[in-house]
Amino acid sequence: MTNISRLLCFAIVIVAALLTVTGTAPAKEVKVSISGSTEKISAFEDREITYLSFSGLADIIGGSVDWQIVGHQITYVRDTNRFMFVIGSPFFKRNDSLFNMTYPAEFSDGLLYLPAETFIPFLNQVFHQKITWNKDSETVRVDSEYFNVTDLSISPKANGLLVEIFLTGALPYDVYVTEGNWVNISIRDGKLNIPRIESRRDSRYMYQLKTHQQNETGQVSFRLRRKIDRWTHRLEDNPPRIQISFADVNFDLEPSDTTPKIGPDDKIDVIVIDPGHGGSHYGAIGPKGTREKDVALDIAKELAKLIRKDKQFKVVMTRDRDKTVTLQERANVANKAQCDLFISIHANSSLKKHVRGWNVFFLATAKNDSARAVAQFENSAFFKDQMGTRPEKDPNNGSSYDDPILTILNEMIMTEFQAESHDFAMMTDKEFRRKVKTPARGVDQAGFYVLNMIFAPSILVEAGFISNRSEEKLLKNRDYQRSVAKAIYDAVKRFKAKYESR
Ligand SMILES: [Zn+2]
Repeated sequence: MTNISRLLCFAIVIVAALLTVTGTAPAKEVKVSISGSTEKISAFEDREITYLSFSGLADIIGGSVDWQIVGHQITYVRDTNRFMFVIGSPFFKRNDSLFNMTYPAEFSDGLLYLPAETFIPFLNQVFHQKITWNKDSETVRVDSEYFNVTDLSISPKANGLLVEIFLTGALPYDVYVTEGNWVNISIRDGKLNIPRIESRRDSRYMYQLKTHQQNETGQVSFRLRRKIDRWTHRLEDNPPRIQISFADVNFDLEPSDTTPKIGPDDKIDVIVIDPGHGGSHYGAIGPKGTREKDVALDIAKELAKLIRKDKQFKVVMTRDRDKTVTLQERANVANKAQCDLFISIHANSSLKKHVRGWNVFFLATAKNDSARAVAQFENSAFFKDQMGTRPEKDPNNGSSYDDPILTILNEMIMTEFQAESHDFAMMTDKEFRRKVKTPARGVDQAGFYVLNMIFAPSILVEAGFISNRSEEKLLKNRDYQRSVAKAIYDAVKRFKAKYESR
């Protein structure tokens, strides 16, 4: 064969291989229920995930889908939203932001297929319609009711409370505080999703939450349990929302509880291990399908086993099986156990497949984009709990993310145990360098939600890159998991020796 015909053959083999991989025929249909009628679009199942034809859905809900076969890129434009998908990638862009739908976009019979369960909630956040996926009836439901004030969330911070009101676009508003700790937000041209907003009342922080729709103005009012000292508000974008933060160092997370004695007392014996993600939060996914939540749990269990053998410690885990645990639940477990050290275990991920190595993080304002991006990813599951979307990290392209939630968090970052946490991170780093065979990326700092709610020295370990093929394999390997656990355990002993002898 000549070189040219050899190249041609090679090209044909590649094309044939691509067709085999991506050309599986749709095996089923799912329903789309819209304004009283039901239509059908093609779908298929892949590893228990239902993929639906997005081209088919777009035909029904409107908007235009355009293909760029070279590069396998597809754009979808509707109203002010411009999406970009890449076949084979779980990442997609909406306008200028990058998101992750956990499972990759797929291509079959000339159509774009997207994972219903993880993508539909995202559409629900950005469009005026209510769009939901029901797995049991295999139906996408599109309700045409129009709201532009869609939701409200309340998130406790270590030294304050953040209330967010979600909009479909920027709207003029006013915030004013009246007697009796009433906070009133009046939104001009605001159409309230009253049942959803009112369902967000959280009696731990507020006595009442009321809504009032008067012609063109929507009003949300709530009465806080605590006296309001300092508060700020701002309009944020992506998603559009009004943020109101109440700074209060004495804010009671659990007003009914008596304040427990927390943090390092004279004994360092209660170790809380926090396996990252779990349940419906998969964390990052490796090229072979390894899930971060599983390796985090495996490593955490190895660590728990090791520390439990050492009778001077008591181990508490925020989860010991595959289940969804909220941010507040993790914090409650740690703080109720009167945690002396908190260790959160994760695996890292990067779009650049060659990136490798472990990291140890402690809580402080991020000093570089790469650390900020890791925190943004780890926070994104909690972020998802709040709004059904996942901002995605991109640690290695050098671009600066300016996540407004992180900005707020950074303003409210808890510095109480920063020196001890840094010290513990350095001890862990030292042990990792001795015992763990993947490359050292060392100690770094960033604003992790989970660490910000722990009243004790804390670290977050990224035990390797699940996105790298060789490290994905290692992360599943028992010996590797044990080496990570041993390194952390030895750091725990060092920490105890140093801080108890003082
Ligand atoms: Zn993680």
